[in-house]
Amino acid sequence: MKNISILGSTGSIGTQTLEIVRANDDLNVVAIAAGSNITKLEEQIREFHPELVCVFHMDAAAKLKTAVADLNVKIVAGMEGLIEAAVYDKAEMVVTAFVGMIGIRPTLEAMKAGKDIALANKETLVTAGHLVMQAAKDYGVKILPVDSEHSAIFQSLNGENPGEIDKILLTASGGPFRGKTRAQMKNVRVEDALKHPNWSMGRKITIDSATMVNKGLEVIEAKWLFGVALKDIQVVVQPQSLIHSMVQFKDGAIIAQLGTPDMKLPIQYALYYPERKFLAGERVDFGKISQITFENPDTENFRGLALAYQAATAGGSMPTVFNAANERAVAKFLDRKIGFLEITDIIEYCMEQHKVVDNPSVEQILEIEQATYGLIEGRW
Ligand code: NDP
Repeated sequence: MKNISILGSTGSIGTQTLEIVRANDDLNVVAIAAGSNITKLEEQIREFHPELVCVFHMDAAAKLKTAVADLNVKIVAGMEGLIEAAVYDKAEMVVTAFVGMIGIRPTLEAMKAGKDIALANKETLVTAGHLVMQAAKDYGVKILPVDSEHSAIFQSLNGENPGEIDKILLTASGGPFRGKTRAQMKNVRVEDALKHPNWSMGRKITIDSATMVNKGLEVIEAKWLFGVALKDIQVVVQPQSLIHSMVQFKDGAIIAQLGTPDMKLPIQYALYYPERKFLAGERVDFGKISQITFENPDTENFRGLALAYQAATAGGSMPTVFNAANERAVAKFLDRKIGFLEITDIIEYCMEQHKVVDNPSVEQILEIEQATYGLIEGRW
């Protein structure tokens, strides 16, 4: 029996993780955490019987406590509560599926407590990658990527020597607006941006895919996870989302991982690594695929990717500014307060204003996050 905690259990990754738990009798959920969705949390408590549950928002936590008063479950709240769920002693693995930088402290605390991490929460790695990778070494814990591209790279590296990597070929679908110019994207609506051609995901990452900021975040994530230089990560647009990423080795050989677009595969691979288990679902039928096509990414019209490379090249605290500006801009776009193109305008403006801090501490990262939000509030 493997005991796990799920941080962000009510979201897209969290609920798919619970689908895997439901299908396997050797996984047990001991702690879960979310922001405020207590309706879903109550359902999850009644089905999966976690011992500890955190709701970040205090009022919602109080309501949940009343709703599940008939059950033997401890309800906690706030950042302290998220950390309590992250370090819960009975868990051996923590699935980090929060959206955004809220995941930084719980992830680092879970690692300090010796938990292996199934990492979906890419914003943590983008902003605090130097601290997370160091913590993995210091506390001897594994970081198992859940993001489909990084899982594909991880799978392609099985049995290989990381020193023999020539480059990582990070695939991208191109999102719903692939092929469009900035002028054509000026008036796109929230509904249009939320229609991803291949993947069904949470709202924030779906918008990130439409701007291609998501691919930028993934480039930085790959840099940290696999210890490769930025110049050795090439983004390849592969619109059918069949190839989830590839690794090219020094001898020119390329190893790829393919499959239907289903996040349960990388989630399950992380949960059971190195074992492969049966997973129900559609299989790739090569008799039906007429073509797999490739393109270079369009970094002129999709500024998000170019800005991510700039942020990663500047290093230090710049990826925090890139990420925080994006988080706030996406929230504003989803609230219909700004237009689609303003998302990358905001990121660019915040990056221009920032003076890089090298090797930022957690406290500095969180201060820079707040300062970035402050910059945006005055202007947009
Ligand atoms: P969702 O928006 O679907 O879910 C986010 C989760 O985070 C929810 O459980 C939400 O709780 C919780 N949350 C939000 N704010 C807080 C807070 N302040 N305190 C505690 N919990 C909070 O996101 P996704 O599942 O799509 O994405 C999660 C992460 O995984 C992201 O980093 C994303 O980039 C990454 N990822 C997602 C993929 C996907 O297919 N969805 C693919 C690859 C990576 P509540 O419901 O209560 O608000």
